[in-house]
Amino acid sequence: MTRDPRYDILFEPVPIGPLTARNRFYQVPHCNGMGHRLPGAVAAMRGMKAEGGWAVVATEECEIHPSSDFSPFSEARLWDDGDVARMARTAEAIKAHGSLAAIEISHNGHEAVNRFTRLPSMAVSDVVVLAYDPAQAYAMSKRDIADVRRWHRQAALRARAAGFDIIYVYAAHNLSLAFHFLNRRYNRRSDEYGGSLENRTRFLRELLEDTREAVGDTCAVAIRFAVDELLGDAGIAAGNEGRDVVEMLAELPDLWDVNVSNWANDSVTARFGEEGAQQPYIEFVKQVTSKPVVGVGRFTSPDAMVAQVKRGVLDMIGAARPSIADPFLPNKIAEGRIEDIRECIGCNVCVSGDYTLTPLRCTQNPTMGEEYRRGWHPERIAPAASEARCLVVGAGPAGLEAALALAQRGYAVTLAERAPEPGGRINLESALPGLASYARVRDYRLGQLRRMANVDLYPGSELDAENVLEFGAQHVALATGAHWRRDGLGRQHWQPIPGADSGNVYTPDDLMRSKLPEGRVVVYDDDHYYLGGVLAELLVGKGHPVTLVTPAPDVSHWTHNTLEQMHIEKRVRSLGISVVNQHALHTIGAGGVTLSCIYTDVPRELAADAVVLVTSRAPETALYDRLDSDTEALAGAGIQTLTRIGDCLAPGTIAAAVYAGHRYARELEDTSLDPDGAPFRREYVELP
Ligand code: ADP
Ligand code: SF4
Repeated sequence: MTRDPRYDILFEPVPIGPLTARNRFYQVPHCNGMGHRLPGAVAAMRGMKAEGGWAVVATEECEIHPSSDFSPFSEARLWDDGDVARMARTAEAIKAHGSLAAIEISHNGHEAVNRFTRLPSMAVSDVVVLAYDPAQAYAMSKRDIADVRRWHRQAALRARAAGFDIIYVYAAHNLSLAFHFLNRRYNRRSDEYGGSLENRTRFLRELLEDTREAVGDTCAVAIRFAVDELLGDAGIAAGNEGRDVVEMLAELPDLWDVNVSNWANDSVTARFGEEGAQQPYIEFVKQVTSKPVVGVGRFTSPDAMVAQVKRGVLDMIGAARPSIADPFLPNKIAEGRIEDIRECIGCNVCVSGDYTLTPLRCTQNPTMGEEYRRGWHPERIAPAASEARCLVVGAGPAGLEAALALAQRGYAVTLAERAPEPGGRINLESALPGLASYARVRDYRLGQLRRMANVDLYPGSELDAENVLEFGAQHVALATGAHWRRDGLGRQHWQPIPGADSGNVYTPDDLMRSKLPEGRVVVYDDDHYYLGGVLAELLVGKGHPVTLVTPAPDVSHWTHNTLEQMHIEKRVRSLGISVVNQHALHTIGAGGVTLSCIYTDVPRELAADAVVLVTSRAPETALYDRLDSDTEALAGAGIQTLTRIGDCLAPGTIAAAVYAGHRYARELEDTSLDPDGAPFRREYVELP
C-alpha cells in the first residue's frame, strides 16, 4: 500500500536546534510505572515507539537529585553517574531506529515528598507538600537555588553522556519546581525570584540558559510548559501569564512542548474531552515563537493531524496515549494502512499503571509493557506451531483478541458468538453516556478479522457442549463473559443483600439492555470503577431522581487511578445526583432502602422505587463446566486444550480481557514456557 499524498506533510523533517527530526511524530514524555526500577522494560518500550516511526521519543520525567524523589512512583532517575548506564539503554534503543532521544529532567520541589531518601522537601516558598503526607517543604534560599541549578546542569551533562539528543526543562503539570516558581499560588518570595512575572520567570529562564550553555552545542533544549491550568485568574492561563511567559522566553528554547495542566486536564479521558481538546489553549504559541511547537490532543486521525499542521497550530504531533495504543501509528500512516491503526479509546487504563506502581498497560494494545519481559512485539507474532484448528466461543474483547492473534499466527480460527452482533460487553457499554470511543476495541478487531482468510466469524451462533465437541477443533477457547450479579455480593457484602430478590432490583445488564426502572432510583456502587457513575448519569438523563450510594469515600473511587475521579464527581454532582458515600446497602424494601454507615452501622432510610446493584459479576461458566467435566468426551472429540479466557474466568477490565485473549493466543502450543517459574523474564537488582 502507498501513502495518501494528503499525509505527506506529516513526514516532512523538522529542524530542532542543532538536530533534525525525521518526521512530525513526537512521542512526548509519559509515565509508565516502570521507570528506574525496570530499565530493560522501559528501554524496550521506548525503542518500540522509535521502530514504529516516532521521530522523537521522550522519557518520562527524570529525577535529577535525591531531594526530588518521587517514591514510590517509579520515574526515570539521574541522581548521579551510577544512573547513566541505565538511562543509556533507553537512549540507545531509541536511536537504534534513527529517532531522536529526548529526556525530561526535572526537580519537583514540593511535589517530591522524598519518601525514600527522607530528605526534607524544598520549595519555592514555605508550603505544604502537594501529596497528603504530613510534611511541609522549606523555602529555598539563594544557595538552594544555586544548588538546584547546578544539579540540573549536571543532569543535563549526564543525559548527554547517556546519549540523549533533546534535553527538556520541565515547567508543566503543576509538578516541577520551575512551574512552582512561576505560579503566584506558591511563590511568595520577596527577592528577585518573586513578585513580578519577570521575577517569577527568572528561575525557569536560568534553567534554560544553564542547559543551553551546558549541552546546547550538540543537544537541543526543549521546554515543556503548561500554558493554562484551567483555573482562570487563579492560575496560569493562556489569556494572561501563560501567554506572557511564552512571549518572554519565546526564542530561548529550541522547541516548545505545550499543554494544559494539571495531568487530569492534560490527559483528559474521552468521557470528558474530545480529540484535539487543547487547541483553544495552545494555538497562540506558534504566533509568538519561531521555534517548533509540539502539542498533544489524543490524536489518532491523520486528517486531524494534518489540519493541526496546516492551520499553523502545531509543527509536530505530540502523543503519549496514541503512541501507547499503537506504537506503529506513524509507520501505518506512512504505509497507507490507516485501517490498521489501533486507536486509543481514551480510557486512561495506561495511567493506572503509574498509580498502581506496575508496568503500564493499555486496553487497545496488549503488548504494551510486555516488550521486554515477554518479548511481545505489537506487529509481530510467532507463526502457528501446528496446523491445529482453533474454536473461540464468545466475541467480546477477550474472544475477539484471541481470534485475531491466533489468526495472525496463521491458525485456522472459528469465532462463534451468540448475539447477532460481535462485541460482547463493548456493544453494551459503548452505548452509555461518554463511552462511545470504547467501540474502537471491537471495531479495530472486527475490521482486521473480516479481512483475514483464515477466520470464520459466526455471529448469532450460540454453542452448547455438543456443538463444541462436534466441531472438530483441537484447541477451544471459551470467552463467554460474565453477567452482573442480582444479589448484591461484592466487596461490602459476602452474603446476598436482604430484599435483593424483589422485583424492584435491576442490574447494569438490565439497564444496558433497555430494561429500565421507574421513579426514584438508588444506584448502589460497590464496584468502584466507572460503571456506577455512568449508569447514574444515564438514569438522570432519562428524568429519574437518582441517589448514588457507595461504601467508598467518593464516587467511582478506582478512577483516581485513571485521572477521572475529579471529573466524574463534578459531573455527578452537577447533574443533581445525590451522593451518599461510606454507606452500605443494608436492606432493600418496597418503598425504599435502609443504608448503614460502614463505620458505625448507624442506619439511614432512603425512599426509592428501584435499586440498581453495581456490585460484582458472575462468570459464565456453564459451558466450560459441562465440557470440562467429561474428559473422555473431550479426548474423543480430539480437543487437546480447553481454556477459559477473560471475564468468564475472572471478570475484570476490558484491558484485562483483551490481554487474556492475547496471552492465550501467544502461548498456545508454546512449549518453552516454564509452568513452575515466573511467566516472563525478570530484571534482577544488581548488587555492587
Ligand atoms: P469478555 O470481556 O471476557 O470478552 P464479554 O462478556 O464481553 O466477555 O463477551 C462474552 C461474549 O460471549 C458475549 O458476547 C456472549 O454473547 C458470548 N457468549 C456467551 N456464551 C456463549 C455461547 N455459549 N456461544 C456463543 N457465544 C457465547
Ligand atoms: Fe488509550 Fe486507554 Fe490505551 Fe491509555 S489505555 S493508550 S487511554 S486505549
